[in-house]
Amino acid sequence: MIIFDKFQDGKSKIVTMSYDDGTIHDRRLVEIFNKYGIKGTFHLNSGFLGHDGRITADEITTLFKGHEVSLHMLTHPFPTKLPEESMVYQIMEDRKNLEHACGYIVKGMSYPYGDVSDDAVTKLRNLGVVYSRTTHVTHGFGLPTNFMYWNGTCHHHDALEDSKRFIELLDRDNHHQLLYIWGHSYEFDRENNWEDIEQVCKLLGGRDEIWYATNIEIYNYMTAVRRLEISADMRMVHNPSAVPVWITWDDEAVKIDAGATVTK
Ligand SMILES: [Zn+2]
Repeated sequence: MIIFDKFQDGKSKIVTMSYDDGTIHDRRLVEIFNKYGIKGTFHLNSGFLGHDGRITADEITTLFKGHEVSLHMLTHPFPTKLPEESMVYQIMEDRKNLEHACGYIVKGMSYPYGDVSDDAVTKLRNLGVVYSRTTHVTHGFGLPTNFMYWNGTCHHHDALEDSKRFIELLDRDNHHQLLYIWGHSYEFDRENNWEDIEQVCKLLGGRDEIWYATNIEIYNYMTAVRRLEISADMRMVHNPSAVPVWITWDDEAVKIDAGATVTK
């Protein structure tokens, strides 16, 4: 029997962070993430790079090394209020700026103001966006059924409580689960509570059972799982993707390398 219940390195739990707007407070937040081995995705408005209180284009590659740079649209408009022409401009200019700054293809996003509609999603997909985070939270640990409506587990205000519940699950079960925390780094400065996120990262960090991933790594991994090809007698599994995938096969974790076929 084949079951899709494993993540990278055969792990069954993921932690990811998602921060919006690219203010200078991201610098301190990245330092904390790096200290505890936590991975994050940073959704930037490239039209504001270098403006007062915002990070600069030049620091993107060094600051976010090991993390993900993602879209938040060029100048933070309401996505559902844009004509098609503006949507194209807001996404493609943002993609060009960020891709030039970070040197890889940028196809993730979070919705400015959490503003999303089915129509906006159709337009965004046509512009190469593959996932986008809302501002809704579930306080649950499920994977999204639709990556264009990716709801987080919690805003960082509730992160300690939800993280404690998540950590308790590590010993209890092997269900594959995701803890997804989102927010804005300037909130820590405004509310003078940097120690709260440090406490959360300290609790979550350094655990062998957890895959610390960026948003796009999770999307790419789950897409690779969906693309696996299984023979009719279920004795052959082929992975046509560029990402190695782990599955449970007859009760053991089996790695299917990128491009490989495994036979039993
Ligand atoms: Zn924003």
